[in-house]
Amino acid sequence: MKQFNTVSIKELAHRFKLDPASLTDVANIYPCRISRYYAGLITAPGDPIWKQCVPSAEELNDTLQHPDPLDEERLSPIPCLIHRYADRVVLLVSNHCATYCRFCMRKRRIGHSGTDCFDLNAAVDYISDSPRIRDIILSGGDPLMLSDEELEDILQRLRMIPHVEIIRIGTRMPVTEPSRITPELCRMLARYHPLFLNTHFNHPLELTDESADACKMLADSGVSLGNQTVLLKDVNDSSMVLMKLFSGLLRLRVRPYYLHQMDLVQGTAHFRTPLVCGSQLIDSLRGRISGMAIPHFVIDLPGGKGKVAVLPENLHKNGSNWLLKNFSGELISYADP
Ligand SMILES: *Cc1c(COP(=O)(O)O)cnc(C)c1O
Repeated sequence: MKQFNTVSIKELAHRFKLDPASLTDVANIYPCRISRYYAGLITAPGDPIWKQCVPSAEELNDTLQHPDPLDEERLSPIPCLIHRYADRVVLLVSNHCATYCRFCMRKRRIGHSGTDCFDLNAAVDYISDSPRIRDIILSGGDPLMLSDEELEDILQRLRMIPHVEIIRIGTRMPVTEPSRITPELCRMLARYHPLFLNTHFNHPLELTDESADACKMLADSGVSLGNQTVLLKDVNDSSMVLMKLFSGLLRLRVRPYYLHQMDLVQGTAHFRTPLVCGSQLIDSLRGRISGMAIPHFVIDLPGGKGKVAVLPENLHKNGSNWLLKNFSGELISYADP
């Protein structure tokens, strides 16, 4: 596993004159790791970078929600392989990241020891035996926590399966540790096209020269770049912030793909916005910036019911709950917490 230069809680607390105990109490439950690079983007406690990576006591107050609301464990026929849609699977190839997001959808497992369960042989066997699978998503944790050699081993084995058409990598390295994107990595990736890479910028403060260089290198290698933003209360739930973020990404040749409603994951309630918020924000961008810069606002329905684009016309109220129609035509109820 790759090791990056990180800041300790002690150092962070010292730098911002805080009591480290308030942070370690939370980090004992939900691990904390912040790369030195990403910590360097913090300007003051409570700013949009801080909120994304520094533990908060609010994480421990959220006991109503579920550790695995998307039912990923139930949808895993073998450990670390999530198969929800007929034609695509998610492989959890690493259980670590350069920086742990406080709003992580896999907060239940990421960064905890003993949860690394990816078995390449088992995954290759499963996919080889499932001819309908044509799209593989490498996720985690962060797949780029693996060395170039480990990652190449996975890509090579997947590419040998005749029915696998595209491979996608989900990684936050261009945002949290851009130095991980090297010419060697890009040369290796270019051997496994068609390859897509979805990264995860949430705020214009993350659009630095270093991250721009990382995206440029990837794009120049022919990797199609997309971005998945998570809508976060008091971080990016503003039309102006999203406008700057999405148009900035397009300039880096990164196409905004999804804006995600925060999943109902235990420990993340303080980040969640009401469902209409995202839909209104997307509406507010329409016509004001290039359509290329506007992602789909999606919600991943609880119970593993799938992602649904939240459009004003498919939002229906049933009492105090929303009803959303999923990809198989089921009407699923969603209650704003
Ligand atoms: C999000 C997700 C996918 C990919 O969905 P797309 O809409 O194709 O990007 C696939 N499988 C699972 C389990 C997912 O959560």
